[in-house]
Amino acid sequence: MSRYTDFYQRSLSDPDAFWSEQAKLVDWNTQPDQICDNSNPPFSRWFVGGKLNLCHNAIDRHLPARSDQPALIAVSTETDTEQVYSFAQLHREVQRMAASFRALGVKKGDRILIYMPMVAEAAFAMLACVRIGAIHSVVFGGFAAGSLASRIEDAAPVLVVSADGGSRGGKAVAYKPLLDEAMRLSRHKPEAVLLIDRGLAPLPLVAGRDHLWRDLRKEHLDAQVPCEWVDSTHPSYTLYTSGTTGKPKGVQRDTGGYCVALAASMQHIFDAHPGETYFATSDIGWVVGHSYIIYGPLIAGMATIMYEGLPIRPDGGIWWQLVEKYKVTVMFSAPTAIRVLKKQDAAYLKAYDLSSLRALFLAGEPLDEPTAQWISDGLGKPIIDNYWQTETGWPILTICNGVEKAPSKFGSPGKAVYGYKVKLLDDQTGEELAEPNQKGVVAIEGPLPPGCMQTVWRDDERFVNTYWKSVPGKLVYSTFDWGVRDADGYFYILGRTDDVINVAGHRLGTREIEESIAAHPNIAEVAVVGVADQLKGQVAMAFAVVKDSAGLTDEAKRLKLEGEVMQLVDRDLGAVARPARVRFVHLLPKTRSGKLLRRAIQAVCEGRDPGDLTTMDDPSALQQIRDLMKA
Ligand code: ATP
Ligand code: MG
Repeated sequence: MSRYTDFYQRSLSDPDAFWSEQAKLVDWNTQPDQICDNSNPPFSRWFVGGKLNLCHNAIDRHLPARSDQPALIAVSTETDTEQVYSFAQLHREVQRMAASFRALGVKKGDRILIYMPMVAEAAFAMLACVRIGAIHSVVFGGFAAGSLASRIEDAAPVLVVSADGGSRGGKAVAYKPLLDEAMRLSRHKPEAVLLIDRGLAPLPLVAGRDHLWRDLRKEHLDAQVPCEWVDSTHPSYTLYTSGTTGKPKGVQRDTGGYCVALAASMQHIFDAHPGETYFATSDIGWVVGHSYIIYGPLIAGMATIMYEGLPIRPDGGIWWQLVEKYKVTVMFSAPTAIRVLKKQDAAYLKAYDLSSLRALFLAGEPLDEPTAQWISDGLGKPIIDNYWQTETGWPILTICNGVEKAPSKFGSPGKAVYGYKVKLLDDQTGEELAEPNQKGVVAIEGPLPPGCMQTVWRDDERFVNTYWKSVPGKLVYSTFDWGVRDADGYFYILGRTDDVINVAGHRLGTREIEESIAAHPNIAEVAVVGVADQLKGQVAMAFAVVKDSAGLTDEAKRLKLEGEVMQLVDRDLGAVARPARVRFVHLLPKTRSGKLLRRAIQAVCEGRDPGDLTTMDDPSALQQIRDLMKA
């Protein structure tokens, strides 16, 4: 048996022993007296009776050994600033923030909504929150007023932490007018707002409500705010899913299970070590930002890089320059970002000394083979795909590099991660598909391992009904992704269950068709959706962004490329998968976190209302598709 197989089996056959061992990676104020209480499924409670604090584990516990070591490296290529905070400095800033929160009336269990750009103060705010037992709800900076208002209503915070603005591609984005509008729209009115003034945008203050961090910080320069020991099951935060398939869901996370899960993942998955530097290129508004920009690396005693800016500004080498400068050992990004880099000169990947870097982890969307190959060739490092969800908080499928350096297979995020009883289920009958190479819904048998969602914030019923009711008479968690497992136990994600299309009785994952199309040398990116068809039930429709659009001005050339793409699909998957049309667009509609909004494309193609689009990035992308469909 391989080392990993043994490790995985142990996590499932004796979960109490396995997780009580992992719990030793964390500092407890009071040791738990029960590892997992699953007496009320699907609600499970981890490390019951234990008391701890996330901020203590991220900062205070490291002070004796590494107070002068870098903890937070805040880099902005938008404002041309770079600031390194040691663990001791971070400790001081977080206490100043925590004291300011208390001065503004925040108590344990209260919510604080954080609507911030990628600046150090956002990290101070998150850490200060959990330090005093308050619950943060980070909302991606720059979300429009309506989306922000609905999140303010849902979280009902006593305090909002925000800034005058952010910046994207050198252009300032004012946050304050959006925040003021959201506060007006929301039925819940937070009592106080704490504002960071970066000198980027006007910052008009509402008397009695708005406070400047600059002023409060000065009042609390020497503040000492001890960590509030909270129950393991005390919520640490709420966070919304990306809204790719519909209205975002408010995920509620515990404290103890999350802390243990992250500490364990830093060792077993990322093979990361104290004193090293971790660089996740995500945003604190997403789950990767929570787990692997802020908490995971700090809990592991590592320095973490927080980066504000584009991956291609000042040029396509900026990330690799940071890897060289800060001797990054582990990096985490998303396929969508690598596709952006792919349009730049590959020489940037060779221009810096990347000898410190051991692996690049990618998650968030299917990693297509051409993209994986390009970055793998360019960096000459292991590229490790990992599959998970906001709901789970840490990877479900990957290669656990810290346990055994097993090979990756392109197109596969790897094997089931320890602690997760991953199953493939027949979507009609709910039967488990135990044989290899059968397509089914990726599901997880309960109890979910530590660190996964506790419930939907203030909506236990939605938690049960959304995630646990897909198989009649059986409590299993559905990921709503469609996948297949090979004989070696490697999974392949074929798309979301919503994205499975049925052409004349053949069930096809949109991902399979996209993979085939993406192999064409002139296709940069593609989205495939199923569109209702009277004859066949559904047909595939493809929207592609080309690398070189110079030749596509006339119809004949577009048709030629369309023909080539169709031939590729015929060859790879057969004529049944061939898209009815391949349309060429400048941009594909995506969420703010960079995920393809296939459901919106599909709705537009079928002439339906595209539904909740509050998390959509650039509306012109969907408009172009609307225009094409009308033409
Ligand atoms: P919503 O749940 O609101 O519709 P979302 O599912 O996009 O939005 P996230 O939690 O950010 O919200 O994303 C998780 C989803 O992203 C997964 O369920 C899966 O569909 C996709 N995903 C994440 N990582 C991978 C990966 N490595 N390969 C394939 N798909 C992935
Ligand atoms: Mg989801």
